[in-house]
Amino acid sequence: MKHFTSEDWIDYVRDVQSPAMTAQMKEHLAQCDECQKSFRLWAAVNKAATKDLEYVPPSDAVRIAKSLFEPTKPQSFGNLVAKLIFDSAQQPVTVGVRGSVSICRQLLYQYGQRFIDLRVEGHPSSKEVSLTGQIQQSFGQPESIPVTLCREEGPIQQTETNPRGEFHMVFVPEEGLHLEIDMNEKKIRVRVPEISGPGN
Ligand SMILES: [Zn+2]
Repeated sequence: MKHFTSEDWIDYVRDVQSPAMTAQMKEHLAQCDECQKSFRLWAAVNKAATKDLEYVPPSDAVRIAKSLFEPTKPQSFGNLVAKLIFDSAQQPVTVGVRGSVSICRQLLYQYGQRFIDLRVEGHPSSKEVSLTGQIQQSFGQPESIPVTLCREEGPIQQTETNPRGEFHMVFVPEEGLHLEIDMNEKKIRVRVPEISGPGN
């Protein structure tokens, strides 16, 4: 018995053959275990490939992936400015969250292969806000990274990250605050997000 080749079965599953050939192969398939194995393999591959074409990745994943392949262009506000890639304030507010007691804003910045996650929380009964951050980089995590809270005139307070890249600060918010993150003698600047009170 002459078997059909893998190429034949690939054409068969893609349905790009003459009807005569298809009929001949179909008949052979019914009585040949070996060709059935080949057919099942290529049918599965074809199905996976078709599914792959239909797959649409989530838009956030596409945005992050694209930004990884773009040179980082500093935007306004001096050199070495991290790029804002996510801001919870630009997301629709979940039902029930609006008007909740504490106010929170979460942002994700990117600088090259580093991601800086910031979470600012305020409370209506306090003038102070709490800033929690995490600095992650795709090429290993340093022991600690100095982080300084600054206004235009100079530093206000300083802390450093723990080995997981996390840091925390509490301060009274004012306009024009930014963080300076010390990375290999370069200072990356990140604008401190402002949060608005309830009703704003
Ligand atoms: Zn066969």
